[in-house]
Amino acid sequence: MFDKLNEAFSRLVDCASRVDVETIDGKGAARLVGIADGIRRCGDSLRTVAVGQVERTNGWKGEGAKSISEWLSIETDCAHYEAQAVVMLANQLHHLPVTQAALRNGTLSGTQAVEVARGAIVAPNTETQLLNLAKHATVRDLRDATNRVVAGATDEAERHKQVHKSRYLKSWTDPDGSFNVKGRMTVANGALVMAALKPIQDEIFKAARKSGEHERPEAYAADALMALCEKATTKQSSESGGKSSRPNAVINIRVDLNAIKRGHTENGETCEIAGVGSIPVATATEYLGEAFLKLLVVDGVEIKTVAHMGRHIPAPLRTAVEERDRVCQVPTCDVSVGLEIDHIKPFAEGGAASFENLVRLCKRHHLQKTHDGYRLVERHPQPTEGERQAGSVSPWEWRIPECARPPDFRDTG
Ligand SMILES: [Zn+2]
Repeated sequence: MFDKLNEAFSRLVDCASRVDVETIDGKGAARLVGIADGIRRCGDSLRTVAVGQVERTNGWKGEGAKSISEWLSIETDCAHYEAQAVVMLANQLHHLPVTQAALRNGTLSGTQAVEVARGAIVAPNTETQLLNLAKHATVRDLRDATNRVVAGATDEAERHKQVHKSRYLKSWTDPDGSFNVKGRMTVANGALVMAALKPIQDEIFKAARKSGEHERPEAYAADALMALCEKATTKQSSESGGKSSRPNAVINIRVDLNAIKRGHTENGETCEIAGVGSIPVATATEYLGEAFLKLLVVDGVEIKTVAHMGRHIPAPLRTAVEERDRVCQVPTCDVSVGLEIDHIKPFAEGGAASFENLVRLCKRHHLQKTHDGYRLVERHPQPTEGERQAGSVSPWEWRIPECARPPDFRDTG
């Protein structure tokens, strides 16, 4: 048998290496994909059933691997998760001869076999039904059907317990400097998360649409998560000091003293949230405003000063500003949720935490002011007392930076 297989294999390799894809037309290339897939299915299915036999006979032991999936991953240079999936399918197929036969004769793809086996192993009476479905349904529909079979066959409470046991929330920073999160939890808890995010996401979406912006819903969901976290930290830090049962949220920022004076980092200087990643100096100075912030000023590698800094805004002043600015103070913007207090003259430039120098802005305008060079300047002439009382004329003018203006509006002088 091995001689025959080896002979067929070398003939196949020889034949395949002679194929010159460049000379084949579109239809021919599509046909070639079909043939290649048939060969792949044949090889994959043989590998799967062979792996099952290796496991049952302990054929993998004594070669240094700790498990059969590790052995398979080393032996065939495949990822460990792929090896684990093959081992699992091999075990299931041992009890499902009909599905195994369908995989062996090429009727089922590997992906389809995984789905059929997953359902049939917990509810053997559904095997035929799932196999029939696989003939014409998409993989997605097949997966849905299997999910229903599995759900119907396993104890609900037990499944819930298992999912809850496997819950996690992971975060990491990618090489491109982006922060990523991934989580898993029960559907009930997930619904709680979504219910908290949804109304905020809707508000942000509406505000964005009003100002003519269109971004993906996922982008607004991320903004909603930010808004929720900001709300939580603000609430904590404004609670009467020390009485809160939880410690205040602390973000440790390490920034070179020279960088903070200059406004940006230069050759090798540091500006980062410790343990998370790099941030722009503008963001660091912006964070300085939060009372909970602990700023670690570093000079080179050496930590020079550990300072509890912050342009702390006393509670009565905060309340007064909140009372005065019910909506974002950028003219024509009427966003009233998630407003942030901004220093008109930046803190880094010596701007004070005073009633005159503080203003409430929506998140978007705050970001534009912090990062994109937009400025809030006093309008000239200032509104009259009557206009001020009626609130019909804004005392502010929103200056768009030259680079952000459409060409038509540029002063061509
Ligand atoms: Zn605004």
